[in-house]
Amino acid sequence: MINVTALTLGPIAVNCYVVTDKDTGRIAVIDPGSFEPILDETLSEAGFDKIDYVLLTHGHYDHIGGVNQVVEKTGGKAKVAIYKTEAPFLSDGNLNLSSRHFANPYPPIRSDILLSDGDKIELGSSVFTVLHTPGHTSGSICFICENSLFTGDTLFFNSVGRTDFPTSNFDHLMGSVRRIAALQGDYIVFPGHNSASTLDYERKHNPFMRN
Ligand SMILES: [Zn+2]
Repeated sequence: MINVTALTLGPIAVNCYVVTDKDTGRIAVIDPGSFEPILDETLSEAGFDKIDYVLLTHGHYDHIGGVNQVVEKTGGKAKVAIYKTEAPFLSDGNLNLSSRHFANPYPPIRSDILLSDGDKIELGSSVFTVLHTPGHTSGSICFICENSLFTGDTLFFNSVGRTDFPTSNFDHLMGSVRRIAALQGDYIVFPGHNSASTLDYERKHNPFMRN
């Protein structure tokens, strides 16, 4: 069983999720967009030595800005996982958009695990499954763990992510939304921005998912 703590970080309010495997206390940090005191305090309290992974839904600056500090605080032990074709975003300010928003692009971020669709990531006794959901970026992914669905900027409460960025593709995004809608059963949707939702709610109400 997992416990999910949501933290809203950075100038455009990314949702970072601290996911803890209840049996072992092992931690995965999803999208640490900015290393702010609330993230530092939350992870210090839990123990930086408990962090096994930094999981990235995609490579945009607002989702990755705190990765290097989190990894440093673990003594370099936490493994950074991103979809295999998205890894170049971690060292390219034009792809991750840090060049657009800051005077200097981000320093490079190391990727340790290059993910493929269907990959399983073990966190203590819990397991994340990778779902490749291109569209917002070509290497965007969702993570499924138990009844939690971490959707990054692919699926939002009543909306979907933008498709006007490098490697974006609206048709691919709609295909990904259909794939998510076709998952069996209901999930809690933990998106990259704005409110959490449920998959059943989105199937009924999200204008991009209803049709
Ligand atoms: Zn994004």
